[in-house]
Amino acid sequence: MSVNIILLGPPGAGKGTQAARLVESRGMVQLSTGDMLREAQASGTEIGKIVADVMAKGQLVTDEIVIGLIREKLAQGGSGFIFDGFPRTLAQADALGELLEEMGETLDAAIELQVNDEVLVDRIVGRAEEARAAGKPVRADDNAESLKTRLMAYYKQTSPLIGYYHAKGLLKGVDGLADIDDVAASIAAILD
Ligand code: AMP
Repeated sequence: MSVNIILLGPPGAGKGTQAARLVESRGMVQLSTGDMLREAQASGTEIGKIVADVMAKGQLVTDEIVIGLIREKLAQGGSGFIFDGFPRTLAQADALGELLEEMGETLDAAIELQVNDEVLVDRIVGRAEEARAAGKPVRADDNAESLKTRLMAYYKQTSPLIGYYHAKGLLKGVDGLADIDDVAASIAAILD
């Protein structure tokens, strides 16, 4: 049975970047609810329409919607999952535990990418500028106003998960301010 992990951390902490590395290096399966929701919007599904405004503002979409998306993915089976941007609330964390249990899978670690707020603003603004320079679409929520809301949502709704996974003995902290390669090496050390 392969390892299943959660990447925890505020927007801009590097969850997506590190998840992509793990997909590349270990063939793990990245499950990003943010990507799923953006895909739903791009393809104009009912869910996509419902969540567009909430996402642009930087608020969390309902537990019911994101748990439904994850349930659908997990129903396809498999293991070696990286949960990226999910769970973001205690209700989602409980639901994930139940879904994995039903599959006979376990959660092996919740890896917290530790950063500070100043660097997040720079990274998010930088990400928007890079996208613009490359002629790629800029995320509707990569702006100062949404970022404020996203950070608040992280502290109020998601950061309690740090205590939750600590209590379960699954929390591992990684310095998210280090170079991308060093962060990847720290994560590899946890997984090996
Ligand atoms: P992300 O790409 O992870 O930064 O997510 C972008 C946006 O999608 C968030 O600001 C939320 O509006 C929404 N979202 C993604 N994942 C979740 C989740 N697990 N729970 C609630 N909302 C989410």
